[in-house]
Amino acid sequence: MFDWRTYRENNKERLRLFQNEWRKKNKKRLNKKHAETRKKLYQTNLKYRLRELEKSRKYRLNRKKELVKLLGSKCQKCGYSKCLRALEFHHKNPTEKETTDEWLHKNFDISKVVLLCSNCHAEEHCTQNC
Ligand SMILES: [Zn+2]
Ligand SMILES: [Zn+2]
Repeated sequence: MFDWRTYRENNKERLRLFQNEWRKKNKKRLNKKHAETRKKLYQTNLKYRLRELEKSRKYRLNRKKELVKLLGSKCQKCGYSKCLRALEFHHKNPTEKETTDEWLHKNFDISKVVLLCSNCHAEEHCTQNC
């Protein structure tokens, strides 16, 4: 009789390689499937959704803290440093759009931005000459 356990013991390496090959070949499909599962869970499972939101909130906060520290921890114009929420990333190049999520990516180039407080940031973008 065929003994799967013995076969697996004897062909560990071969099976591992085969599995890796298979995963590589089906990576796109698997990723899509995982994304779909997560999306469905997110839509139907409140607990999961809350956990994901909390995870992303924590990630955003830590990421912001990390970048703010790298950028000197204070407004580059007036020196304000009290509240993290009132500190914002302003692009040096005005043609670049300030999307809110760009800085979340690991390879974000912080030399593209300066740290400003909300007031100074608003002034920087003010076009009304007020
Ligand atoms: Zn300021
Ligand atoms: Zn700006």
